[in-house]
Amino acid sequence: MNTQLLNPDKDEKAYEKAAEYILQGQVVGMPTETVYGLAANALNGEAVKKIFIAKGRPQDNPLIVHIADIKQMDKLVSYIPENAKKLANAFWPGPLTIILPKSECIPIEVSAGLDTVGIRFPSHKVAQKLIETAGVPLAAPSANLSGRPSTTTAQHVIEDLNGKIPAVLEGGACTVGVESTVISLAGNKPRLLRPGGISLEQLRDIIGEVEVDRAIKEKIGDDVRVSAPGMKYRHYAPKAPVTVVCGDADKTANYIKQNAKSNAGVLCFKEYIDIFNGYKCFEMGSKNDVSSQAKRIFDALRAFDETDVNEIWSQCPSDEGLGLAVANRLKKAAGFHVINLG
Ligand code: AMP
Ligand code: MG
Repeated sequence: MNTQLLNPDKDEKAYEKAAEYILQGQVVGMPTETVYGLAANALNGEAVKKIFIAKGRPQDNPLIVHIADIKQMDKLVSYIPENAKKLANAFWPGPLTIILPKSECIPIEVSAGLDTVGIRFPSHKVAQKLIETAGVPLAAPSANLSGRPSTTTAQHVIEDLNGKIPAVLEGGACTVGVESTVISLAGNKPRLLRPGGISLEQLRDIIGEVEVDRAIKEKIGDDVRVSAPGMKYRHYAPKAPVTVVCGDADKTANYIKQNAKSNAGVLCFKEYIDIFNGYKCFEMGSKNDVSSQAKRIFDALRAFDETDVNEIWSQCPSDEGLGLAVANRLKKAAGFHVINLG
């Protein structure tokens, strides 16, 4: 079986076909504004199991439940705190996932045994239309093979999952390009578990203090219990080992130039592409344009796998705004092999 590409612009039945797969308990690729997702009926545990099988995802890594109307959340969680309402009003539909105590109707496969569930209302019209047509909330992780960089085009999804899922809906290239921000409101204090499309600064503007989980910036030992199980896995990784160099952009470019072997790959800011003439080099947008960097990062990490490089060096944006999310994805791709030039 080849995976079918369903294009709503060319096929008026695309949504119905995709929704039918979902209601039969199958798994379908779906575009969102962050990355492509691998969607199944969130209320059907057997269907959700197929997501884990298609991706090769560890079973203790929970899934985010996608809705197309704020009211859909009421049944999925046992309690909606005031801060959740404020964040939903400010950022939904959009790239924010809110973790709350789950209700009875969330199967154990979705929550991976936790007593919480992550909820998100995506802004991508194709995702909304699929959720509405299927009439059920959709559990969906990123639509990549586990450990690989996330997918930001339908073509990426086919690359990773062809033959493993019946269909993927075409929705163009993702406009955000990194996954949603994950904030937990299930504990005593709001806690950022994953930086993403909504920045820490934006969250703090709405609800005040937000703690930052330390797994965002540093490697966590295998024996340590983390709040978001996804945080402990090697992730987003191309085949060749990655080294991330942080600091002033001129300095990091020089450092990489001095240390990269002749068959290295380099991921740099646009301004430095000429310096790396002769290397397999991909640029991730201008050094001051972090939203372009977010859009390009996964495509660039994937592109190295089409080459024969045996090491990859990357420049890194600072932690401000969306930079925190881009830097986190790069550091995770590097297994936190990071050189700080101060
Ligand atoms: P992915 O869908 O591949 O982007 O992964 C979803 C991310 O959200 C993972 O890092 C999960 O660990 C995290 N996540 C989803 N649900 C929960 C939850 N109930 N508690 C904590 N983290 C969660
Ligand atoms: Mg993922």
